Amino acid sequence: MEGTPLPVYVRPMRPKFHPSLVNDRFGDPALYIDFLQERRAILFDLGDIHTLSPRQILRVSDVFVSHTHIDHFIGFDHLLRVLVGRDKEVRLYGPAPFIDQVEAKLAAYTWDLVERFQTELVFVVTEIGAGLETDTARFRFSRRFAREDLEGGRAANGVLLVEPALTVTCAELEHHSTCLGFALQESTHVNVWKNRIQEQGLTTGPWLAALKAAIHEGLPDDTPITVERDDRTREDMPLGFLRSEIVSIEPGQKIAYVTDAVFTPANETAIVSLAREADILFIDAAFAKANVELAAHHGHLTTAQAGSLARQAGVARVEPFHFSPRYEDCEATMIAEVNEAFETNEA
Ligand SMILES: [Zn+2]
Repeated sequence: MEGTPLPVYVRPMRPKFHPSLVNDRFGDPALYIDFLQERRAILFDLGDIHTLSPRQILRVSDVFVSHTHIDHFIGFDHLLRVLVGRDKEVRLYGPAPFIDQVEAKLAAYTWDLVERFQTELVFVVTEIGAGLETDTARFRFSRRFAREDLEGGRAANGVLLVEPALTVTCAELEHHSTCLGFALQESTHVNVWKNRIQEQGLTTGPWLAALKAAIHEGLPDDTPITVERDDRTREDMPLGFLRSEIVSIEPGQKIAYVTDAVFTPANETAIVSLAREADILFIDAAFAKANVELAAHHGHLTTAQAGSLARQAGVARVEPFHFSPRYEDCEATMIAEVNEAFETNEA
């Protein structure tokens, strides 16, 4: 008698998202998230990005800007410089009045030679206002980047971008003005066990896509799914049975990014909720734990506050950044302070 056969196919755990800070922990904020086996990346914040190669910049599809203090947005000019003359569309997101600010940057250059180009560069810019209301505008190279207002909307539950494989959400944080935190969540992986399909007398086919879609949508167990048998006949089976018998479900990756937030009760709640159970949280830790007043005055977190927020959110790993240059000679101490708060259970 044989034991339970091993699954024929189990998806290897290969992370899709590869995040890295563009600069060191003292440099301008910008987090480059490269996608495995796709010529695509997204950016959280747009500080100085000169160290990215043109090849890396050309992969960027979406840029999420926390706020437009110069150290978070100066990289727009370099992005523009690399992309002009290329066929490319980039979506940009930021807090109001972000559209006016992008428009002003584009208006600062002379575009009288656009007719000589066959290429089209498009920026689709969404700004997030009070109550998560959104406005969107488009700027096309062929029109000398004249503003074209598109339909507005609302980022319900903070959701800015939804695709089958991922979702990006934002949280409104208090800084000097509004600042946004971001989270990139990969969709759940639904892995089909081929041997289990065969044991049920079923065959693979397009019905599996419908099954996966029903699982992603979180439909109830009694939802009928039309399956296909070996003999090509069809019948309905309940979703709950198929979910427990022929698939395994693996949670997707999550990366959270929080910067320029002051330590207030409202921000604490918003950050913990945004970053909950992230694989990695990149978080502002501008000041040492002894400089609490200074951090509050400048609208930033201390190392201990950052570590504590990461612990409360139950993240797997914390990566502090945006260290103030005053600590240039004690980077290791700053990191140690974050980790101490992350690992210890102080109130
Ligand atoms: Zn900043």
